[in-house]
Amino acid sequence: MANSDMTEIQAQIDLLEQNLKQWAVEYYENDAPSVEDSLYDQTYEELTQLANTYPDLISTDSITKQIGGAVTKSNLPEVTHEVPMLSLGDVFSISALAEWMETTQANFDRALVYNAELKIDGLAISLEYLNGELVRASTRGDGRVGEDVTANVKQIADIPKKLTEPVTFEVRGEVYMPKASFAELNEQRDRDGLPSFANPRNAAAGSLRQLDANITKERKLAAFFYQVVDAERTLGVSTQAELLIRLAELGLPSNQLNRELQTIVDIEEYISQQTTSRDELAYGIDGIVIKVNTLADHEELGNTVKVPRWAIAYKFPPEEAETIVLDIEWTV
Ligand code: NAD
Repeated sequence: MANSDMTEIQAQIDLLEQNLKQWAVEYYENDAPSVEDSLYDQTYEELTQLANTYPDLISTDSITKQIGGAVTKSNLPEVTHEVPMLSLGDVFSISALAEWMETTQANFDRALVYNAELKIDGLAISLEYLNGELVRASTRGDGRVGEDVTANVKQIADIPKKLTEPVTFEVRGEVYMPKASFAELNEQRDRDGLPSFANPRNAAAGSLRQLDANITKERKLAAFFYQVVDAERTLGVSTQAELLIRLAELGLPSNQLNRELQTIVDIEEYISQQTTSRDELAYGIDGIVIKVNTLADHEELGNTVKVPRWAIAYKFPPEEAETIVLDIEWTV
């Protein structure tokens, strides 16, 4: 390729990086996005495609290699995650999902089972329990360093300070703001002459990342949990579906609309059902997460620097008709 073409591609990559980094700061650090998630996702996808074609043009500090946002701007104490809190890879069509399943299946000579779960639209949280007592809660931050939000999390009614059994483990999930709390909060802010939150996800993040835990208490947040560090050893479970049941037994809210499924046809049907009924849920979801069900397989598949290879998020298409600038296809 001619040098001038390469220069043009580099300029295009730089522009995409610059836009995405600015949007990421607004979203993760300020809890105030200026663009729709769908535009962020489309731009990210465009950059990913360029990164796959021209890996040498991608810098080491590319957004494609980073998780979430920096915690430096927050006044909350820092927490280092011994096991990094990762993001999720995403797909926007059933054909891309089928491709991911085929690639994943190719690592095994037995047919894989998947656990399909709702993708809760909130912010990731990690809780540490010592002999059943909640001792620390932290946000994901940049995946390696998050913020200590223990006092705030203790104000969330849904989250037990004491489990039903004296277990010692780290559990991860999503803190979210129920749709009703979000509507109520924005009405109140409107009356008070304060700016509205853009969406429940940002309202949840803004309500949790507070120095005053009383604010978190007023905001009526809730949570779902879906992951445990070293779950086979700490909880004695061997599949993702069992893990969700076990968490509920311990008193931790886990979403029970998951299904153990095997084929792309069944997964497509599940996605279609959940897409149809999502408006009836009391909380927002922005996709479906498909996970390899057997936990031992997770170790075998491992992670990239940013995402696990044993899970993928199927993202819902944008709710309102928006101008789609890129060639991304959303099909159910
Ligand atoms: P993500 O939200 O797409 O997916 C990863 C996260 O999903 C996990 O970290 C976890 O917190 C969450 N999750 C919810 N339910 C889950 C379940 N059942 N199992 C496992 N994980 C579950 O990735 P991200 O890195 O947190 O954020 C990237 C996304 O954020 C983008 O795709 C975009 O939609 C949005 N974003 C928007 C802007 C903007 O300006 N609008 C900017 C940055 C990011």
